[in-house]
Amino acid sequence: MTDIIQLLPDAIANQIAAGEVVQRPASALKELLENAVDAGATHVQVVVKDAGKQLIQVIDNGKGMSATDARMSFERHATSKIRSSQDLFAIRTFGFRGEALASIAAVAQVELKTRQPDAELGTLIQIDGSEVKKQEPAALPVGTSVAMKNLFFNVPARRNFLKSNPVEMRHIVDEFQRVALSYPEVAFTLFQQDMEVFNLPVGKLSQRIVGLFGKSYQGQLVPCEEVTPHVNVKGYIGKPENAKKTRGEQYFFVNNRFIKSSYLHHAVNSAFEGLIASDQHPFYVLFLEIDPAQIDINVHPTKTEIKFEDERTVYAVIRSAVKQALGAHHVTPSLDFSL
Ligand code: ADP
Ligand code: MG
Repeated sequence: MTDIIQLLPDAIANQIAAGEVVQRPASALKELLENAVDAGATHVQVVVKDAGKQLIQVIDNGKGMSATDARMSFERHATSKIRSSQDLFAIRTFGFRGEALASIAAVAQVELKTRQPDAELGTLIQIDGSEVKKQEPAALPVGTSVAMKNLFFNVPARRNFLKSNPVEMRHIVDEFQRVALSYPEVAFTLFQQDMEVFNLPVGKLSQRIVGLFGKSYQGQLVPCEEVTPHVNVKGYIGKPENAKKTRGEQYFFVNNRFIKSSYLHHAVNSAFEGLIASDQHPFYVLFLEIDPAQIDINVHPTKTEIKFEDERTVYAVIRSAVKQALGAHHVTPSLDFSL
């Protein structure tokens, strides 16, 4: 009898897990942005080079990490955000899986710089493909900077699989917009190849929408709000006359987390019935607040799909909220009195 099963070394286990977390530069950006927001940052800067293939750097002014935590943050299943399985049912942070930094460091060259407000010195760590190259104290500003260089440098097959720069950049902007939309109280900038793409000061949600999508949205947003015991809905919808043929400017956030749901999309569309052509899509940015116990966000590692305990009620509340908003702003079809 020979035994042939072995536990995989951490570096390989991390590389396998990375396949789920980091599909492309934009997925790394999402994780880094979420970490910055989770750290309580009020200002977040993003620097992108070569559509993220060469560099994605996220610099925040959040709470930073101790030297020990800085090293620990790259271990898989290492997190400061949950401690027990009970906590899984009351998640208020973006992160909780403790997988992102370990995954990113397994398939890229990462430089972490971090300092806590009360620490005199910060910590610099360099990791290439899960291998720690350097760890030393360093004079640094308060907060955290994570630079991810040369994604998939050690996984050539995946590197070749990356799409053209315009396509990868589109994904990066998508992820950036989603996080920036849900935190208008945080200032964000995005630089691509030393050019400023976005500069979003702290403001109201309506100002953030205009900052992200352009001046043409000014005066075109209808506020939408409904409070029920089960779920609260708040946000903006676009006026029916501004509906577009292209999908993509529809946003649902559940407890500030961007989610995709064709079922809930239908709820909004159905409220617009009769006001827009059937091949058109209204603009909307809607925030749902719901008891975390009523949802399961652990369905997929990237957490854009979630399960609702009572999806039908959520559907009904959204539909009614949008209908009311449209009615309150007199954007119902004009009546033809000549009949
Ligand atoms: P998760 O976010 O699921 O906890 P990550 O791998 O993304 O897992 O991060 C691991 C830990 O590293 C976090 O729980 C947090 O304590 C710390 N961390 C990561 N990024 C930052 C940051 N920008 N500022 C402060 N702490 C951070
Ligand atoms: Mg995280």
